[in-house]
Amino acid sequence: VPIRSRVTVDNRFARDLPEMAVAWQADAAPKPRLLALNEPLVAELGLDAEGLRSPEGLALLLGTSPPDGATPVAQAYSGHQFGSFNPGLGDGRALLLGELTDTAGRLRDLHLKGSGRTPFARGGDGLAVVGPMLREYIVSEAMHALNVPTTRSLAVTATGREVRRERLLPGAVLTRVAGSHLRVGSFQYAAASGDRGLLTRLADHAIGRHYPESASAERPYLAFFESVVSAQAALVAQWMLVGFVHGVMNTDNMTISGETIDYGPCAFMDVFDHGARYSSIDRDGRYAYANQPPIAEWNLARLAETLLPLIAEDQEEAVRLAVAALEAFRPQYTAVWLAGMSAKLGLPDDVDGAVAASLAQDVLSLLQENHVDYTAFFRGLASAARGDARPARDRVLDVAAFDAWAARWLALGPDADAMDRVNPLYIPRNHLVEEALESATRGDLDLLDRLVDTITRPFEERPGLERYASGPPGDFGAYTTYCGT
Ligand code: AMP
Ligand code: MG
Ligand code: MG
Repeated sequence: VPIRSRVTVDNRFARDLPEMAVAWQADAAPKPRLLALNEPLVAELGLDAEGLRSPEGLALLLGTSPPDGATPVAQAYSGHQFGSFNPGLGDGRALLLGELTDTAGRLRDLHLKGSGRTPFARGGDGLAVVGPMLREYIVSEAMHALNVPTTRSLAVTATGREVRRERLLPGAVLTRVAGSHLRVGSFQYAAASGDRGLLTRLADHAIGRHYPESASAERPYLAFFESVVSAQAALVAQWMLVGFVHGVMNTDNMTISGETIDYGPCAFMDVFDHGARYSSIDRDGRYAYANQPPIAEWNLARLAETLLPLIAEDQEEAVRLAVAALEAFRPQYTAVWLAGMSAKLGLPDDVDGAVAASLAQDVLSLLQENHVDYTAFFRGLASAARGDARPARDRVLDVAAFDAWAARWLALGPDADAMDRVNPLYIPRNHLVEEALESATRGDLDLLDRLVDTITRPFEERPGLERYASGPPGDFGAYTTYCGT
């Protein structure tokens, strides 16, 4: 039985929201070659790895031979890009193959990126290249291993087609998996259409998929909005805790599910810096590290605007309710962030919140002022809790400031073993990602495989991996990332 007949997908999005779904086909690939296959995820989805590695399997992963009964679609959406509204975005180079039921009974989107031009492609070529698709694979799987909600990467398949960027580069398709690809921008599209029926259907579809408990609330659409606010507040807090800079928090890149999506220009910071930004197009730092919480809140206000007609008949009342719901963002964000920082610092549960908050703020100021590596410092700090301050202290130029801070912290009795369970050793550092992508682009997958293996077990110290736990070499320089590659 061919693999396309053994994989069953639903077409729920296309069926519920035909106005937002354009049936489309993936481009043929001249010479497919599998570059990465995520075996744990394959198992979670109830798929078979050997089948996926076969020529028919690659055709399924590329979308050229979709599952029987599938209706691949490009999804329509709008979005605020760097603050300006663009009504006509949508999947320019992506397709939803359909929704798969995983082994836990959850519905998961099976989705392609780089599968060819769609009617939403505008000026783009609809394609993607090997380096950036492997980059999404690495970083999204690192996020998952760090317990940050995210879209997942199932496979990267080289197409054998050359793609024109600043030079000719090998093309690839990323096969990814998500709770859904519904975005704030999806709601903006439905709202801008002026079709109240479409907006209601979209909201009901989203509630059914992600927040079914909202359906029985007194005000279902307000409860739905409150759920998205909570999910995003928790998500962005977790980005901050792991030192992740998303880089392009446009409203079309913010999910309704609360999963991280769109790993174009993202990066993990090495040296702690509130102003950290990497994207070549984010010149004003709109999406810099410290701006992520207020930007998330801004994006959620755009979501609220789309939902006003559904929240209450009286629009003044709807605004009042939506504003009150949005006001929950800050306390929820702060609660998740503070719990996370308290865990990173190994603080016992009974430590006063204000004490924990001031310790956390002060250690971040220390890191900022002394240009200290964020991940290595926190991992090293567990040694200080065990009696050897050097791994953390030696990273700080102002040792007197470190000692004063550490005395306050140690007096609270931090738990070193608990710290090791939440402070990663291995993150996808930019210099490691770049070296793996360069060699993979040349055809050598060894460094890629080793990096994926390392970052998918981020908390577990293993011999021989010291270089994966270290910051970049002195000559690595400023790091720049790109969109749409
Ligand atoms: P992003 O910045 O990745 O969120 O993309 C914004 C919009 O540009 C989306 O509508 C994408 O589908 C579209 N896009 C990005 N790169 C390409 C490309 N190479 N070809 C066609 N559309 C693209
Ligand atoms: Mg996007
Ligand atoms: Mg992108």
